[in-house]
Amino acid sequence: MIRTRFAPSPNGALHLGHAYAAMVAHDLARARGGQFLLRIEDIDGTRSRADMARQAVEDLRWLGLTWDAPVVMQSARLASYGAAADQIKAMGLLYPCQCTRAQIAAAATAQGPDGLIYPGTCRGRNVSPEGAAWRLDVTRAMAMTGPLTWDDELAGIQTARPDLLGDVVLLRKEAPASYHLAATLDDAEDGITLVTRGFDLFAASHVHRLLQALLDLPVPRWHHHALLLENDGRKLAKRRGSPALADLRLAGVDGRALADDLRAGRLPAGLSLGTGVTSPSTCA
Ligand code: GLU
Repeated sequence: MIRTRFAPSPNGALHLGHAYAAMVAHDLARARGGQFLLRIEDIDGTRSRADMARQAVEDLRWLGLTWDAPVVMQSARLASYGAAADQIKAMGLLYPCQCTRAQIAAAATAQGPDGLIYPGTCRGRNVSPEGAAWRLDVTRAMAMTGPLTWDDELAGIQTARPDLLGDVVLLRKEAPASYHLAATLDDAEDGITLVTRGFDLFAASHVHRLLQALLDLPVPRWHHHALLLENDGRKLAKRRGSPALADLRLAGVDGRALADDLRAGRLPAGLSLGTGVTSPSTCA
């Protein structure tokens, strides 16, 4: 049976782009007689807000979406992220990194799909693990797993290219696990068979496929959907004036009708659907 999920990070209010993403995941499950789950990705201690998590649940109910299991809170699963990271560490594939963002920006020479690629400064060096971020040695990891593929039901079979993102962080200083590690483990734990997310996170799936191979996790299919874009081709963002769903809800807008409009492609003026490939991800 197919099982999908919507997994917002409660760093701010949900907007129409989130409504669209949630609806895609929900409707795919419903159309195929499967299940839909809601997971709140609340492990970033510096950005996650409990009030935003509660608000997101209200917003999704208002849109008429229903889920088939209690809401999963990532913050309840920290121990399993640590255990998986230890497993990858024991394979000799994680190394500590003390670089600041500014240092990386100064040293990086290559641009990846998610911004500058970490240039590997701390790899192979004797860096103190105290307060460090832990990065995945992607080249070694790929040598260990051999070539991998994954299947996006819209884009087709992909050759996994986690190297496109470089040595990503799996354990952060300010959060117990990175998005990549937590999302991959949770999708396995929750039995997600079809991972739906916006096309802006397409590249992240290369890394997730590698983590699945390293941790011997089941491999789902993926469905990277189009994004709601503004006139300038950038994806919607609350900071650029996209209305919060909560504001629409409190103003008396009919959430179910809004969801039906999005389903039917009746988009608010000035918005369109596209891949938004010029907008780097904020999740990785
Ligand atoms: N928490 C991520 C976000 O809000 C989820 C992305 C995913 O579905 O993997 O963008």
